[in-house]
Amino acid sequence: MTPFSPQLASCTCCPRECGVDRLAGDTGFCGIDARIAVSHRGLHFGEEPPISGSRGSGTIFFAGCNLRCVFCQNFQISQEFDPARVPVLSVDELADEMLRLQACGAHNVNLVSPSHMVFQTADAIAAAREKGLSIPIVYNSNGYDSLDSLRKISGLVDIYMPDLKYMDADAAGRYSGAADYPDIVPNVLREMQAQCGRLELDGDGVAVRGLLVRHLVLPGLLDNSKRCLDLLHSLDPEMYISLMSQYSPRYRAAACPEINRGLFKKEYEVIVDYAEDLGLEHVFVQEMESSGYYLPDFERDEPFEGDKQ
Ligand code: SF4
Repeated sequence: MTPFSPQLASCTCCPRECGVDRLAGDTGFCGIDARIAVSHRGLHFGEEPPISGSRGSGTIFFAGCNLRCVFCQNFQISQEFDPARVPVLSVDELADEMLRLQACGAHNVNLVSPSHMVFQTADAIAAAREKGLSIPIVYNSNGYDSLDSLRKISGLVDIYMPDLKYMDADAAGRYSGAADYPDIVPNVLREMQAQCGRLELDGDGVAVRGLLVRHLVLPGLLDNSKRCLDLLHSLDPEMYISLMSQYSPRYRAAACPEINRGLFKKEYEVIVDYAEDLGLEHVFVQEMESSGYYLPDFERDEPFEGDKQ
C-alpha cells in the first residue's frame, strides 16, 4: 500500500463516484483499475509557450479517461486502448520516469489526463520529490475533477492546466457524457486557483506556478464559449487562458452532424473578440492553420508531428 492507494478501494476519485474496488482489479467508467497505465511519455513542444518553453514539456499520457468526448483527439489512448497492451508502471517507476524527463531537460512534468489517476500520480510525485525532482508538476486535466481529490493532493501540484469545456449542460451531456460538467467545473477552477494562484512566469516566460485554463472552441457552440469566458472573467479578470481553435471532427464526431466539421475562422474570431471585449488580456490564441500540428497519432512512436527530431 502507498499513502494514497486506499482511496482506490471504493473509487470516488472523480465526479463519477463509481464506488468500484480498483485495488481488487475492478474498473469503473474510466476503464482503469489501480495500476498506472501509461500510453506515452516524452518531450512535447506543442503545448502553450509557458509550458513547452524552449526545451519542451515532459509529458506523461495516461490511458483511459473519465469523460467520453465524441470528438476526442486522443481517442486511441483514452477510449480504444487495449488494456493488455498498455505499459503498466509501478509508483517508483513513474517517479523514475519523472526524473528521466527532468534529466532530458524538460521544463516540467506534464501529467496528461490524470483525473482518474489522481492518487497514483500523487504517490509518484511524492516519491519523485524525495529522489530529487525539482521541476514543476503540471496537472493537465479535462476539468472534470473531484474537489475532494484535489484537496487531498494539495501541495503536490505546481501548475494546474485544466480544460473548461462546457458551461452548457446539454452540450456536456451530448458530447462528453457528463451533463453535470457545468455544475462541477466552477468549483474545480476555484480550488485550483486557491491552491496555486495566478500563473507565474520566470524571466524566460516559462511557467513556474499557477493556473492556466484551456478552452477549445467548438463549431456552432459560440454561446457555450462565451459563457465559459464569462466564468473565467468572473474568477479572475487577469486569468491566463488558452483559446484553442484546433477542433477537428475526430473519433465519433460524425454521430453528431452539427459538430462534424472544422471550426470556421469567423467563429474563432468572434470568440477571440469576445475575450478582448471582456478585458481578458492574458489569452493565448492559435493559428487556424496549425490544427493539424496538434492532432496526434498514438500508433506512431512519436505521436505529434512537431515533436519529431
Ligand atoms: S476514477 Fe474511474 S472508477 Fe473512479 S470514480 Fe472516476 S470514472 Fe469511476
